[in-house]
Amino acid sequence: MEGESHGEVEAAAKPHFVVIPFMEQGHMIPMVDMARLLAQRGALVSFITTPVNAARIRPIIDHSLKSGSTIRFVELRFPAAEAGLPEGCENFDLIKSDELIKPFIESASLMADQIELHLRQRTPAPDCMISDSLQYWTAELSQRLGIPRVIFHGPSCFYLFCALKIKREKIFDGIAVDDSKRFPIPDLPQTIEIMKGHVRRMADSPGWEKLRDQVNLAEETAAGVVLNTYEELEPWYIEAYRKAIGKDVWPIGPLSLYKEADVGSRAARGRASSIDTEILLRWLATKKQSSVIYVSFGSICRNSRRHLIEIGRGLKASNVAFIWVVKEVEVLEEWLKGFEQRSTEEKGLVIRGWAPQTVILSHPAVGGFVTHCGWNSVLEAISVGVPMVTWPRFGDQFLNERLVVDVLRIGVSVGATKVQKFVPLEKREEEEEEEDEAAVKRDDVARAVVSLMEGGEEGEERRVRARDLREKAVRAMAEGGSSSENLKNFVIKYASHLRVIDPYV
Ligand code: UDP
Repeated sequence: MEGESHGEVEAAAKPHFVVIPFMEQGHMIPMVDMARLLAQRGALVSFITTPVNAARIRPIIDHSLKSGSTIRFVELRFPAAEAGLPEGCENFDLIKSDELIKPFIESASLMADQIELHLRQRTPAPDCMISDSLQYWTAELSQRLGIPRVIFHGPSCFYLFCALKIKREKIFDGIAVDDSKRFPIPDLPQTIEIMKGHVRRMADSPGWEKLRDQVNLAEETAAGVVLNTYEELEPWYIEAYRKAIGKDVWPIGPLSLYKEADVGSRAARGRASSIDTEILLRWLATKKQSSVIYVSFGSICRNSRRHLIEIGRGLKASNVAFIWVVKEVEVLEEWLKGFEQRSTEEKGLVIRGWAPQTVILSHPAVGGFVTHCGWNSVLEAISVGVPMVTWPRFGDQFLNERLVVDVLRIGVSVGATKVQKFVPLEKREEEEEEEDEAAVKRDDVARAVVSLMEGGEEGEERRVRARDLREKAVRAMAEGGSSSENLKNFVIKYASHLRVIDPYV
């Protein structure tokens, strides 16, 4: 091929996937992992990103380049100004007011022409597009490029199926959003009861109709669905979802168990860690097996000052050693300093900012996780056999809690009932005033943590179940395992000029 480097000639022999993530940590992190897995399978991957997001994962990009990986991180200009967003607002966690959420979701559509131009200028032509379920505009882009499009769905299959059933069977029609009665979702293998408010999505708000319809249509017209889960984790729900949507569903996770899981690369997932990994590992090395609880609420939900204090005091009251990730340092710095002095470094480690979550969770000293039930966090805990204290806030999290507590029986609920609106940090103080009796208190935190970590026979049974799921997860990702086979078959199906696909040779 004239004018092409040796690398490009080689690349031309590989199936080429274009990956278009939604720019939010909980969506990007698993999609980067997926890109690495596809590359290990012998595929060429064009991973679309923007300058701010690329800067966050620079160590992964550098590692990828150095190791000769076949992922091309394609850094394109993000049209913030055209979308009415402040310059540099390229990730969901940088949004500073609620009014910008919808424009942010719609903004990536303005990148369609740039992506098309890039793909048309480079060889080989792509075989398939994998785009986040929120990137509705990729339906048209894939048509223009003449390639099939598969969507990547971030949540659990349990959530996806339950949400579909609730919608199709109109379970909550005529029910007030703030009705605190729990309604059963019919015809499931377990009894699952949920409040309307706990499954209401932002997309159900007035003014979101057009966007919601566009997202739904893009989902209906997609060729298939890729999921970050594994067949053995939620078999009934995966089968039911396949039947319900009538198209290919490819569970290829847990993606956090991708093969190249060296500590440096894992610590840099999402963004640079706020703690030196060496210091962290030294601290963990002083702790007994399964004695530490890890506390983190993901990348976007914000705790108010009052909530944070209740968490801190609850942890202290539990007398269990902890690692606590606090993103909201600006609302709490003074209190935190005093708290650290009182609880001593031996008992607890506070990480201000971003933690290397999978490094922490996979350490043998960690025996529990207080989580907001974001699906990545839940699955990362399951992948390493760590049971959970569940404290959902919004979105898919309340249903994920039901999966963890009622279906998998590897969790203890903290008892949260209140839906927390997504409120950017600046507005948290106002929100705090609204807190009421329903808010989770320190005693709830202490009770749930003690019950999880020292739960006697029941606690031991929870651990046994969690360990069993970890073993199944590891097997699913290993050669011949269900997720590994699903990924292989996925590549075979969508690669129009397939060459090498076995990463184990
Ligand atoms: N995460 C991390 N360090 C942090 C906070 C989050 O590595 O300090 C990662 C976590 O491992 C997970 C993702 O960010 O992969 C969060 O996704 P999740 O679905 O759990 O929650 P979300 O942030 O979307 O609410």
